[in-house]
This record gives sequence, C-alpha cells and structure tokens, in this order.
Amino acid sequence: MPGKVNISMKQGQAKPSKAIVSEGDLVVKGQLIGVPSGTYSVPVYASIDGVISEIITRRISYKETAEIVVINENKKYENKYEQSGVGSLSPASLGTANLAGGKKAANFLRDIGIVGMGGKGIPTFYKYKEKKEIHTVIINGIDYEPGLTQLYRLIMECPGKILFGAKELASISNAKKIIVCIDKKSEEAEYILQKTVSKYKKILNENIETIIMPIAAKLSLGDDRQLILEALGKPEEGAIVSCAATAAAVYDGFYDGKPLINRGITVSGCVDYPGNFWVPIGTSFKSLISHCGGLKSDRCLILDGGVMTGTSVDLEEAHVGITTTGITVIEKGDFKETPCIHCGACEKVCPVKIVPYKIDRAYLYDKNQYKNLNAQDCIGCGSCSYVCPARRRLTERILIAGKELKKKKDYPQKAEKVLTENKGRYIELDSSWSGALDDLETMTQSAPHIRSQVTSSQIMLRVFAALLPAAASVIYIYGIRALLIICVSIVACMVIEGGWQIYRRKPVTIWDGSAAITGMLLVMTLPSTTPISLVLAGDIAAILLGKQIFGGLGRNRINPALTGSCFIKLSAGAAYLFTQNNYLKDILFQSMIENVSLLLIMGFLFLVIQKVVLFWPSVILVVLTSLVDYIIGIGGLLNGNLILGGLFMASDYASIPATYKGRMLFCLATAGITLLSGQIFGIDFGIYFAILIMNITTCILSTYTI
Ligand code: SF4
Ligand code: SF4
Repeated sequence: MPGKVNISMKQGQAKPSKAIVSEGDLVVKGQLIGVPSGTYSVPVYASIDGVISEIITRRISYKETAEIVVINENKKYENKYEQSGVGSLSPASLGTANLAGGKKAANFLRDIGIVGMGGKGIPTFYKYKEKKEIHTVIINGIDYEPGLTQLYRLIMECPGKILFGAKELASISNAKKIIVCIDKKSEEAEYILQKTVSKYKKILNENIETIIMPIAAKLSLGDDRQLILEALGKPEEGAIVSCAATAAAVYDGFYDGKPLINRGITVSGCVDYPGNFWVPIGTSFKSLISHCGGLKSDRCLILDGGVMTGTSVDLEEAHVGITTTGITVIEKGDFKETPCIHCGACEKVCPVKIVPYKIDRAYLYDKNQYKNLNAQDCIGCGSCSYVCPARRRLTERILIAGKELKKKKDYPQKAEKVLTENKGRYIELDSSWSGALDDLETMTQSAPHIRSQVTSSQIMLRVFAALLPAAASVIYIYGIRALLIICVSIVACMVIEGGWQIYRRKPVTIWDGSAAITGMLLVMTLPSTTPISLVLAGDIAAILLGKQIFGGLGRNRINPALTGSCFIKLSAGAAYLFTQNNYLKDILFQSMIENVSLLLIMGFLFLVIQKVVLFWPSVILVVLTSLVDYIIGIGGLLNGNLILGGLFMASDYASIPATYKGRMLFCLATAGITLLSGQIFGIDFGIYFAILIMNITTCILSTYTI
C-alpha cells in the first residue's frame, strides 16, 4: 500500500469533477469524493481508507490545473466500504446494474467513474452514448508500446473479467459481436482466453459472438481507427473499441459493485526490479519506483506511459491516474535536431499516410501550408520521429498543428517561438507555475523518447565509405595528382562551408560529412589534370551556390557537387570556344571515374543494403539510358558519368523527391534528358545537366506524388 495517494479530480479527458470532501474528513475505499461538473465528467472515488490531509490545486499539464485530493492512509477504516456502502452509490445498486440493461446500464458506466484506460481517457459512457448502431465491440488487449506488459498480465490473471466486461459493453450497445484483439506473439494469452470462452460458452455466447483475434502488435494499434481497420479489414462506423483494462473495470462495477479505484500498470526501464503492479489510483510514481529499486542514474527521465508515446513527468509530482498504463524510466536522450535531409523515411512509416517532413516545414516556416497536409489525422504514434535520422521533432509539431487545425484557428505565436528559437526548451512560463519546472531537463522532452540509431551524419559516413574504393582506385590509376585534387577539394569544401557559417553566425556543421562528400563527388567528375584553382572555383560554386544560398543541408534544391562540376565544365567549354585549347576540352569531356564503374556499382549496392538509397529508381535510370542508347545507336552513354550520376547523384536525398513515385518519375525524366542531350549535342556526360534540370522540378514532383 502506498501510505498516501494524490487523487486528481481530472481523469483522462473528462472534465474536472468537483471535490466534495474537506481537509480532516475520514474516507473509506470506494467513497465518492468528487462529483461530476458537467455532462462530460465522471465521479471520482477514494482509492484507500484514510484521512483527507489536504486539497490542493496543481498544474497537471502546460495548460491545465486540477484539484488534487490527498488522502493519508489509515487502516482503522479498512473494508468499511464493503460492509456499508457509501457515497451516492451503494454496492447493491452497482451490483445489479447489469440486470437493468440498455440505457440505464450505460449510465452506470458513468457512475462507476470509468474513463478509457488505454491511455486516451475518453469517458466510456460518453463514447458508448455517442455512437449509434454499434454492431461490433473490439477489445484492445495489445500492449502496443515497447516495454509495457500490463494488458498481457491482466489477460493472464483475469480473462473472465475482460470477457464478461466486454459482454456488458456489447449489451449496452446492442452489438452482436465481440472481438478481443491480442498480440500474436502472446500464445499463452490466446490459449487462456480461448479456454475461458469455451468454459463460459453458454453464458457468453447467448446472443453475442465472441472472437479472439491475434494480431501483430504495432504502434499504430493504440488508435481506435487503426485497430478497427486491422480487425475488420476496413473502416467500420459500426465498430467501437475499448481497452481490455476498461472491460475488466466494467466487470468490477457491474458484477462486484466496485467503482474504478485501482488499475494495473507496468514499471519498466532503468529500475532494478521491473514488474506489473496493481495499485490504487493516486499512488505516487516515486513510491513505485522506490519499490522497484530506485533510479539507476542522475540522468533519468520518468515517463507516464511508454517510450514512444509517454509524457515526461516530474518525479515529485506524478501520480498514477486512470489512464496511466505504465511508468518507464529511461536515460535521457541527446536528440539534437539537424536539418531534414529529405530521406523520406518518416513518410514511409506513417500508418495514416501523411507526410511528416512537409508538416514540419510548414509548421516552422509557413503555417498556412499545413492546412492541406492533414495534420489532424496524426495518431501520435511517434514512428516518424523515431526513424528520422535528423532527429526532427516531428510528432510533437504535427500533433500541435493537428490540434490547431481541429480548433480551426491559428495556433499561438508563442508556441512557435519557443520551438524555433529556443531549440525545444520552453522559455516563457506561466508565472503561477513557480517551482514546478526547476528541473527543465525532466519536463520538456517530447515523445518519442527513444530514436533509431541512424543519424544524418552516419548516413553521410556510409555514402563516403561507399565512394572510397572508387576514389582509391582513381588514385591508383592517376597517381599523386588525383590524390592531391581529391584532398584539396574535400578540405576546401569543408573550409568554405565552415567559413560561410561562421560569417552568417550559424552553427558550424562541417563534421556532418556532407561537405566532404560534395568535395569528393565534384572532383571525380573532372580529369586529374584539372588545375587546383579551377577545382577551388568549383568548390566555391558547389557550397555557396548549390547549398548555402538555399539555407544549407537539406534545404538545397540542386545537387551541390553537380553545381560545382557543371560550373567548371561550362567555364572550360566557354573558354575552349575562344582558345581552342585541347586542355580545356579535356576538362569538359573527361573525368577520373571512367574506369572505376564496377567499384561505383559495388558502393551503390552497399548503400542499398544499408537502406540508405532505393535500388529501383537509380537502376532503372542507368539501365534505361544504356538500353535506349544501344537501340537507337547514340553511342557511349554507358560510362562512368552515367554510373556516378545515376547511382549516386540521382539518389541524393535533398535534391530529389522524397516519395517513391516521385523518385521514379525523376529518374525516368533524367534518363530522357540524358538521351536527348546525347542525341542533340553528342555529349556523354549529359546526365549531370539532366539531374540538375530535374532537381528544379523536385518540389513539384514531391507535391503531386504524395
Ligand atoms: S505523423 Fe508521425 S506520429 Fe503521426 S501518425 Fe504519422 S508516423 Fe505517427
Ligand atoms: S530527415 Fe527524413 S525522416 Fe527526418 S523529417 Fe526529413 S524526410 Fe523525414
């Protein structure tokens, strides 16, 4: 037992109730201590026997405050509730609710204080009253958050409660079918539920069919619409979802006359003794974590919920509420945001098919834009932020954008200012919140609280590594001169980028590897005899005109290396027209990578295996160009330029469309322009210009291929 509980008058999304007890009052377990303040509100009950020590008003989120009733435990009054019945409900009336049926029974859902226990906290009575013509009740028994196992434990210990609670919910809504969804991997949970269904077949299946459905657990299943889709194969208006814990609480109310005063939670993460606990509502996080062996480090972050969707809370203030599914203790991550590199990973994982990076950009730079991007559909699963190598705070921003869209008015400038100028730390605090935010580190990290190991710098490092064998071979073939211009170009690009960023007072990002890659790629498109001065001029064009003028990595609309390369080739070409100097002609037509195609292909395959680039768009570009070239007889297009351009430059995230369809179109059009340039101008490096031309269309392709 906790010794003391802090019971909030606001549970889940229900409107706050009004405390009806005073300091010094004796209360017993199950006694009514808060009455509903409106139609979207539920009564609140004492979860332990004891004395009301204080009633305080405390901030429970950035925007909300709530009355908190503090009860000090006193075992003298233990079990009085079972004997007498207290508050506005008697155990007898609750116990016979199931006999009342229909509307009357629905009202009992409210009287026993139930709000959805899966995390969202919508008052259950309201949810069932709101929905008309329900044919299927879906019970969510899946712990979709990594590390939480409270629903699995509940199924293993109380399968009957869940099934009979579900039966009550089905009776209330006149549904003819119950589907209990469980994690496919929990075979023992399936076995025990099937066994219980068979045992109580006659009572359970009177008029209602009960199905146990194993499903592969995934984050999106925390959302009702996604679970309905998974369970029924299509969106169904006539289906309603409740959590397995909610169904068990319904059983407690309808069959045992108990209001909702306890719940099961998982304590996991950096504690010595993780486990599932059945605790009174209002138990402090601190006492539970102490019970599990305490915190293992000073840099711990305490989460109400799991690592993907949980909220970071202050250990001193946090208490178990009806919606608390678990307490997760993790080491605080160091998620430094870097610019989006347009890898498209966030879009690929989004279960509701929205484009996170676009909403992120719209939120930060032009909030009018996100209105067309369906931010309101986000279910907050955290997958996009998790996979983002640039550590963008996508989920947080999309949820804010979505909320504001639902309200149909512009969101406050203050929030935007906080997010853009202060790198995530709230700088403008409500003065009444004095003291509550002493430890900002533990209060402001947004979900998800873990991220994939892959960062933008690691991606750059892999691209660099993929180019190294070809570069080494070039040095072997062309000797010290090739080594010299490769090194000069890499260093020059880094120095130019760093110098520009210092001049513009921006963070210096030369160690992210992108400038080094630009330097290497650029010089590989040139012959080894290219003068150093021309290489440096190309480097300046690449970094300043191809990248920094647009705002740096991820914002550039054209490929920087190609910008520099084309700048050099066009300058040399123009000079050749006047001088007829063959040396300039070589710079225009030759490159060092002519004999290293095989190594470039191997490098590309390495990137495909590492999931850095997509296989088909680039391969189709190269194969299609070579094939048509062969068929119509242009001649010579299958060379090192095509391999380097097609496999490495036409897959540069920042300057190509982020969607798969967009990338396909990009590559097809690039192939077409390359062939045309070969046919009309007789050049075999037209791919470089083709990519640059197509880079300009990237925005349009991205927009129309979502
Ligand atoms: S936008 Fe991100 S958080 Fe929202 S549903 Fe898609 S993946 Fe999940
Ligand atoms: S870096 Fe990739 S995952 Fe991150 S926001 Fe940009 S496109 Fe999405």
